[in-house]
Amino acid sequence: MAAQKVPFFVPFIDEEENHAVIEAIRSHWLTTGPRCVEFEAALAAYLGGDVHVVSVNSATAGLHLALEAIGIGPGDEVLVPTLTFTATAEVVRYLGASAVLVDVDPETLGMDFDAAALKVTPATKAVMPVHFAGLPISTVQLECFAADHDLKVVEDAAHALSASAGGIRIGRSNSAAIVFSFYANKTITTGEGGAIATRDGNLAQRMRVMRTHGIDRDASARFSGGSWEYDVIAPGYKYNLTDIAAALGIVQLRKADRARDLRSAMAKEYIASLADLPLKLPNSGDKSVVHAWHIFPVALTDDAALGRDEVIEKLREAGIGTSVHYRPLHRMTYWAETSVRVGETFPVADRHFDRTLTLPLFPGMSSAEQGYVIQTLRSILEQ
Ligand SMILES: *Cc1c(COP(=O)(O)O)cnc(C)c1O
Repeated sequence: MAAQKVPFFVPFIDEEENHAVIEAIRSHWLTTGPRCVEFEAALAAYLGGDVHVVSVNSATAGLHLALEAIGIGPGDEVLVPTLTFTATAEVVRYLGASAVLVDVDPETLGMDFDAAALKVTPATKAVMPVHFAGLPISTVQLECFAADHDLKVVEDAAHALSASAGGIRIGRSNSAAIVFSFYANKTITTGEGGAIATRDGNLAQRMRVMRTHGIDRDASARFSGGSWEYDVIAPGYKYNLTDIAAALGIVQLRKADRARDLRSAMAKEYIASLADLPLKLPNSGDKSVVHAWHIFPVALTDDAALGRDEVIEKLREAGIGTSVHYRPLHRMTYWAETSVRVGETFPVADRHFDRTLTLPLFPGMSSAEQGYVIQTLRSILEQ
């Protein structure tokens, strides 16, 4: 096998991040403290202000806190798209509720709200749409659906920091909570980390308390010359972000839109250069939408002579890293055994999964690297 020529992803990190992290360590304040406060304020401002931001140590933690804060518990049902990472659904199980899997729309790969409507029961309490690949789901559709069925909304925006719809950034809707991931390969990174945005001050307060063991005051308030005293008001979790991670996040956030513009230009180049191949290319959204382009998933059409796994293998032999987003949850052992009813099908997600692969796309990718991916894919598919 050839040495890897184009990795699947490389984080967009330079000396500024290195410096910020070293400064955080040198400050001797390592856990949640002033840098987390600064990062939360910067993210709130980035989202357009007038929104509460709670930083956490992963998006998974953020999704869990959001569902807990809106009162999800045993016996409740929560609608989740089947085409997502398992974290979206697993947090529903943490709370003893049931994840109800829903097929996706073939054009956007986001939740199909018509399919979702058929799965609403009196036990359905919330819906968790995913902004797949960074393409915003329709706010109008989502709000109508939630209002029609009286559901709370927690948006899984793990792919979508830097996306917007109708000039409004993903993160400042009226949903109960919008959750971002800062995992290593997401649109910005803190290594591991996440954040919850909400317009609701009471939910924000509950999530802040539950983020640190159900303690009613932050450690920074207790240890920075304040009183030692604290109370525990609930059996909370240990989900706070460190200041070392926040230091990385502060710098990354300043670069978020520039990084998105670089990914967006590369997505455009892929779309122009791959148009004549037997590939279904990802939807860019209409003019009102800014796509975050977290990933660039393509799907082979019926005209392709090779199968998806063969294409991935040939790209690997040529030194090109790829991934697959996602094997749908209903085809994972745990979810298949617990959350799929007899006769229930997910034809759109199945068709997508069987044919899809995700091409490399990252802000620092050179045009030579992208040209190599395009030329290699072309020669594989034109054989
Ligand atoms: C990455 C991801 C998550 C989980 O993010 P973490 O920060 O790793 O917990 C959740 N949902 C989706 C759709 C993701 O891609």
